[in-house]
Amino acid sequence: MTFDDLHLLPEILKSLHAAGYERPTPIQQQAIPHVLDARDLLGVAQTGTGKTAAFTLPLLQRLHLARPAHQPTGPRAVRALILTPTRELAIQIGESFESYGSHLPLRHAVIFGGVSQHPQVQALKRGVDVLVATPGRLLDLINQGFIDLKRLEIFVLDEADRMLDMGFINDIRRILPLLPKQRQSLFFSATMPPTIRELADTILRNPVPVAV
Ligand code: AMP
Repeated sequence: MTFDDLHLLPEILKSLHAAGYERPTPIQQQAIPHVLDARDLLGVAQTGTGKTAAFTLPLLQRLHLARPAHQPTGPRAVRALILTPTRELAIQIGESFESYGSHLPLRHAVIFGGVSQHPQVQALKRGVDVLVATPGRLLDLINQGFIDLKRLEIFVLDEADRMLDMGFINDIRRILPLLPKQRQSLFFSATMPPTIRELADTILRNPVPVAV
């Protein structure tokens, strides 16, 4: 299978070519068609399998194809949120959006704790389509009124098992009620013990299971 077989946009194929990718990895082959089809996804995959592109590529494509014909006046609404447990992962995911989205007119920002919030707030004020965030800083900035998730279309929970190990479960429980019920959700975890499975059940609707 090639990336062409996955029916990705020319703008996205161009960026994959520039990155030197020749063919999709197994998680990408399995996940991308379902995400493009607007299905929820329950993915069991470790880092290193190409999981980030498995959600980033179809997410960019869906946002681009469903973009509003006229940008409403005022700041852009956040249309996709990716929650990830660590600053390192957040930065890596941000770099993926930078690279795979380089030929698309979508904007992203990365927010995480342990650093000044000022540059992050400035980026949010300029308006972003895609927000990559760690849970604590996301809640902080929501509580200060800098982020509105009412128009969210796609929610990704990355590395769910690590999120729980790091004690983020209460933060996640606070974030979930702030998301629109009508949305597409993608859930990734390296392992799927019962507690993770239960969390997935509260987030996903009729998900397609994918495991590599
Ligand atoms: P991830 O599992 O998302 O952390 O990705 C692991 C590494 O594989 C990253 O450095 C990606 O840039 C790279 N990668 C992802 N998909 C592909 C692909 N289809 N071909 C070659 N490299 C890839």
